[in-house]
Amino acid sequence: MTDPLAGLGTMRGRAVGSVPLPGGREITIYAVRPVAALLAYVPDADRLAATAARQCYTAGSILDLPQPLPPKTTARLVDKVVSAGHTSCIEHNQFVFGVRGISRSCSHQLVRHRVGWSYEQQSQRYVDFATQDFVEIVVPPTILRIPPMLEAFLEPIRAAVRAYFLLRDERVHQEDARYLFNNAFETKLIVSANARALLHFLELRTCNLAQWEIRWLAHLMRAELVRVAPEIFKFAGPTCMTQGICWEGARGAKCPRLAATGAELRDRTPSTTVQRTSPVP
Ligand SMILES: Cc1cc2nc3c(=O)[nH]c(=O)nc-3n(C[C@H](O)[C@H](O)[C@H](O)COP(=O)(O)OP(=O)(O)OC[C@H]3O[C@@H](n4cnc5c(N)ncnc54)[C@H](O)[C@@H]3O)c2cc1C
Repeated sequence: MTDPLAGLGTMRGRAVGSVPLPGGREITIYAVRPVAALLAYVPDADRLAATAARQCYTAGSILDLPQPLPPKTTARLVDKVVSAGHTSCIEHNQFVFGVRGISRSCSHQLVRHRVGWSYEQQSQRYVDFATQDFVEIVVPPTILRIPPMLEAFLEPIRAAVRAYFLLRDERVHQEDARYLFNNAFETKLIVSANARALLHFLELRTCNLAQWEIRWLAHLMRAELVRVAPEIFKFAGPTCMTQGICWEGARGAKCPRLAATGAELRDRTPSTTVQRTSPVP
């Protein structure tokens, strides 16, 4: 396997502007895109999940059974437990991603996933961005492709960069200067999660109705996961594809995937017109 860490810091995206500073220094603004590289994972994850399942349904110990499980048995057991919702069997598998090129806006959504997840995020307290001659931001595609919109978008970025460097020149600590950075500023994380948590995340975030940036990230992560654990992650996707049901109600009716999948449209939101009754007499 090639070193997934190699080259992670080299690709900077597209230069979309610059900020001239006093003293002749110039800071380049790069618009970047998400990258999610699988750094580490439990090898043979499908087989480990199948082994966990087998222990549940075997009279003896898994230690006494012939190893390793053949691919067909692995596929059958993973299929059985995941489709039955017995997903604790896949929790034994941990996956670690290096993520970069996402906005603070996206990372805020990402870290809302709490159960079975661990995060390390680049610190704006300890990292002094004034030591670099560039900043990285994420620009929504709706803005990136229209030059006057892009200019309007860059205006507060330029002002923030100018003020950040001024404050740092005046010895204001970066932990205070960072308050200038808005949601567009790029961040980097190490993220790890178990397979069950990842299936839940991918169900929510690969849905067409999820926000575009975290959806993009989710698709990148899914592609990596399918490569190393195809039996588990063939179940990864929005519910229109995995359950034949779209739970988005009226919102889902506009989704092109609804027609493509032939999924049934249901509304998860409790109706305000339905009268609730208490079981207590
Ligand atoms: C389309 C979309 C729009 C969103 N919009 C908003 C928004 O406007 N504002 C906003 O604040 N957030 C929003 N979110 C974030 C959302 O509310 C969740 O915080 C996020 O998706 C993480 O999901 P989760 O809690 O299921 O995941 P996890 O935190 O990983 O939890 C996994 C599961 O564990 C169980 N669980 C976790 N914690 C508890 C608990 N304390 N008590 C009981 N059971 C628990 C639940 O079954 C949960 O589904 C949005 C998410 C999506 C996908």
